[in-house]
Amino acid sequence: MSPGNYLLVGLLAFVAALAILRIVPALRLYLRFRGKRIVSCPETRQAAAVRVSAGKAALKATVHTPQLRLSECSRWPERQACGQECLQQIQEAPKACLVWTIINQWYQGQECVYCHKPFGEIHWHDHPPALLERKTIEWNEIPAEELQDALGTHRPVCWSCHMAKTFRQEHPELVVDRPSSPLRMNLYH
Ligand SMILES: [Zn+2]
Repeated sequence: MSPGNYLLVGLLAFVAALAILRIVPALRLYLRFRGKRIVSCPETRQAAAVRVSAGKAALKATVHTPQLRLSECSRWPERQACGQECLQQIQEAPKACLVWTIINQWYQGQECVYCHKPFGEIHWHDHPPALLERKTIEWNEIPAEELQDALGTHRPVCWSCHMAKTFRQEHPELVVDRPSSPLRMNLYH
């Protein structure tokens, strides 16, 4: 190889190393801060649902140390000009305030109030479990900023029981509860 080629290979290796050094932390930052979170709004001391602009922060992290900003808040657009002080809570404990963590921690160790099946870890591809107060509702149908209050007053219901109950609620005319009778034909004898 000519000295020119060595220089070119060296330059390419340098650029690649630099890219990896920048891209890996950026990717880590993205994975750390993506997703919906529940914070205590420093202004109202009430729960607010927020989302960090993780993609933008990761992109900026490839060039310099980024400053986190929110991309969504349940108090917006009215309070969009706030100082976003809640970001401090997210930076201190990014995982703890993630809606997903809160939901998983609440269901785990509990069992469905109807069939008593214990809940395991909930994955994004699972059918969402539900909550019961007067009627059953899937957890992700509750606005995130109201979720913590709902978890305090509702009881856990598995997805299968929720489906059965919803069918009953929506089509009571199609559900027949028949008390057992010795006169009815029995399949087993
Ligand atoms: Zn159940």
